Amino acid sequence: MDQRLAAMYSQLEITTPGLAVDIDETLSWTVGFWVEAMQQKFGNPENLTIKEMVAKYRYTQNVPYWQSPEALEWMAAKINSNEIQEGLPLIDGSSVYLNKIKQIIPIVAYITVRPVKVLEGTKNWLKKHNFPLAPVICRPNDIDHGDGHQWKATVLESLYPNVLGIIDDNPKLLSFLNKNYRGKVFLYDHHDNFGLSFVIACRDWPTTYQAVKKTFIKV
Ligand SMILES: [Mg+2]
Repeated sequence: MDQRLAAMYSQLEITTPGLAVDIDETLSWTVGFWVEAMQQKFGNPENLTIKEMVAKYRYTQNVPYWQSPEALEWMAAKINSNEIQEGLPLIDGSSVYLNKIKQIIPIVAYITVRPVKVLEGTKNWLKKHNFPLAPVICRPNDIDHGDGHQWKATVLESLYPNVLGIIDDNPKLLSFLNKNYRGKVFLYDHHDNFGLSFVIACRDWPTTYQAVKKTFIKV
């Protein structure tokens, strides 16, 4: 374990092994916020609802008519705002079900590729929506956004077995985890485990709760 990971680990003070949780598109409907704001500011020529646009493009960077320098600059200026993090919409059921999951296994960390500069806004948002209390690990300044999932995979592997897995929506994470990773990835909002035995696809929060229960309650 390198020095920085060791420092992070000591901050966690994990006394009982538990689960980590991702934030964007797992707990908060971040893309929904951005699509709504970008539609209002930079147009919606296909006349799509927010849900239709997310289904079609998934991320704002895939929407062809929002790639003007003006639109990209506006987004870059807002993305590091703590105030914006605090106003992000909640994914239906995420807080209720994570609090139910906490009764089965402790929630020991939130691990996010968000940059450390939005840590305060992120903590305030979690508190506002009554999420289980746990340290928030954000992407360090010296890791590029593009390397965020690789960083997250390294953190998860280093923290095993104190962190027994993660609830996360992004399959990009899987490609950076060792094929023999001994934790579990509860892949939120997916139907496919990508052929990996440590991945459990969970289509929504009730399904995630059932999957955690099945994994950690031995009968
Ligand atoms: Mg995510």
